[in-house]
Amino acid sequence: MARIFTSQTIGKVGEIVTVAGWVHARRDMGKVLFYDLRDKDGLLQVVCVPSELGDENTTVANTVRPEWVVQIEGIVQVRGAKQINDKLVTGTVELLAKKIVVLNEAKTPPFEIDKDTSGVNEEVRLKYRYLDLRSERMANNIRNRDKVFQAMRRFLGDRGFTEVETAILTKGTPEGAREFIIPARQHPGKFYVLPQAPQQFKQLLMTAGIERYFQMAKCFRDEDQRGDRQPEFTQMDFEMSFVEQEDVMNIIEEMMIGVVEKLMPEKKIQQKPFPRLSYQEAMDKYQSDKPDLREDKNDPNLLAFCWVVDFPMFEKDDRGGWTFTHNPFSATKPEYHQDLIAKQNIEGIVAAQYDLALNGFEIGGGSIRNHKPDALKAVLEIIGFNEEQIADQFGHMLTAFEYGAPPHGGLALGMDRIIAILQNEPNIREVIAFPKDGNARDLMMDAPSELPASALKDAHVKLDLD
Ligand code: ASP
Repeated sequence: MARIFTSQTIGKVGEIVTVAGWVHARRDMGKVLFYDLRDKDGLLQVVCVPSELGDENTTVANTVRPEWVVQIEGIVQVRGAKQINDKLVTGTVELLAKKIVVLNEAKTPPFEIDKDTSGVNEEVRLKYRYLDLRSERMANNIRNRDKVFQAMRRFLGDRGFTEVETAILTKGTPEGAREFIIPARQHPGKFYVLPQAPQQFKQLLMTAGIERYFQMAKCFRDEDQRGDRQPEFTQMDFEMSFVEQEDVMNIIEEMMIGVVEKLMPEKKIQQKPFPRLSYQEAMDKYQSDKPDLREDKNDPNLLAFCWVVDFPMFEKDDRGGWTFTHNPFSATKPEYHQDLIAKQNIEGIVAAQYDLALNGFEIGGGSIRNHKPDALKAVLEIIGFNEEQIADQFGHMLTAFEYGAPPHGGLALGMDRIIAILQNEPNIREVIAFPKDGNARDLMMDAPSELPASALKDAHVKLDLD
């Protein structure tokens, strides 16, 4: 008999059905044994009575322990009025078991799965992530993450955006973060790097005429683990052609409001349209470029979005030279374009750059880009690149821009942070299926790990561990 999900039992009162899943909990009341059977949809109460099961199945029923995987055939029956459980989707029914088949046994888990695991030692949770993900809170985090991703994809798809996968094995760019490097076995002495963001590819897609691009993109940054960071994380990466700053901000704002209101009616967006602060105002008033504007910081359902705009384009670096504040591709606000080309008033140049903050976190940022070679070149010269470096690292961008690049701009949203805030989770590890720990290790897979000498030799890698 075809297996049905526990949630489907409510429509099948009086019918014989087969369900399958994990034994979430087991209550032995002497004459009757109850299981809560768990599948992807939730829990179903199963009633095991010897007179219905017969001897053989009763023995099986008594042997089964929590987290064993079972298949149960039985009759769906309505629960007595007193037994109705409003907290369960299946709370009005139960399954009177007729036959129980054990599909797999399970060891006793290292922590209790039928409770919230947030208090359990995190190393243990990460080592046994597949068990942690069985717990209700974690499973909800992963499922709600998917709902947000799907809603964004639908919103953007409906507006003519194309999701394009860009390359993961690529070339390093000095966009700010240290990159992971991958030895290129077929090109001894050469390396790919993993992208810190698909920035250049999305701009090249604009040059290619895609016009409206997005990607749920994995990004990689090999940085020391400060605070709540992950070496790999997910951005909703986004770019549009023939737009100004306002156009990008408006469509993202509409998307964020739409997604939250559709999926999470319990949340309240404090102010719509989102307030806009200049960088200077934010710093003067809140001493932060990602101010927390919530009127009630204890309200878990309050969402205070705000845009921060008018960032300085350049800032001094540690060595006294200029560096960009966002990435080298940002354009100035139109009224500062001449200053950029003339390389004058550098500290006063304002970028066409915007950040989106939510409850005190930066959840996204982007800019209108330089789409003409002379403007990109001017930025690179201001930050101290010589001709050779420019040609080596940005030659392909400058060349592309010589072939009719349209004006364009975009942004990237930090999806892990957004989901963590929406799920009221204190850190992004709670909303990533398989995160690294605070030392960038995957404790479950045991990565990073050593490689056999032959693999290193193949990759032309010699170790220098001093
Ligand atoms: N690529 C940028 C980042 O990762 C975002 C953008 O400007 O679109 O921060």
